Amino acid sequence: MLKYMMLTLVFMLMEVRLSKSNKLKFYYGTISSGKSLEILRTYYLNRDSKKIALVKPSVDTRNIGVIYTRFGDQTKECITWNENETLSQILGETKYDMILIDECQFLNDKQLNEINDLYLEFDVDINLYGLLRDYQQNIFRASMVILGMCDSIIEMTSKCHTCGEDAKQSARIENGKVVYEGNLISVGFNYVPLCNYCYLNGVLK
Ligand SMILES: [Zn+2]
Repeated sequence: MLKYMMLTLVFMLMEVRLSKSNKLKFYYGTISSGKSLEILRTYYLNRDSKKIALVKPSVDTRNIGVIYTRFGDQTKECITWNENETLSQILGETKYDMILIDECQFLNDKQLNEINDLYLEFDVDINLYGLLRDYQQNIFRASMVILGMCDSIIEMTSKCHTCGEDAKQSARIENGKVVYEGNLISVGFNYVPLCNYCYLNGVLK
């Protein structure tokens, strides 16, 4: 009898999981791969039928309070997520159908846990957009966690700033040269997408 009840419970849980259709997606790419453009595209495609939140962590100090894409020089207001606030605090009472989060490589563990809990407990689609690796080729901790918890992974492609081949690196440029070490805070530096060859050999136009 107990075995039967256990099996019934397992099937009930499976049914709940199978009927859950919301998705958690990770869009990653190098600098200038169109991630923010994709956010705005998704927003404008769905805004008539869905309630959508646009979010960006406060650690990204460029373009505060807006999603900005250099493609077409477009901006759209977004919610800034400070580290001392919870996800439910920044979303308030509004029930969102979709949450689009830019610069997700800067999220901390607590923020990532809150995103995962929200995704598992509610019928909300969550798209995370960000870099996979820093300019030293190290994978961001947040991006590694996201790879483990998302339903699907979408690579955004970009072209090498120098030769036009597919870019795989977000290179930091200082005084006209590719640099491979230094602090990881991105403020005040210029970044360009490079293919592996141009990155490793420091080839710039
Ligand atoms: Zn190249």
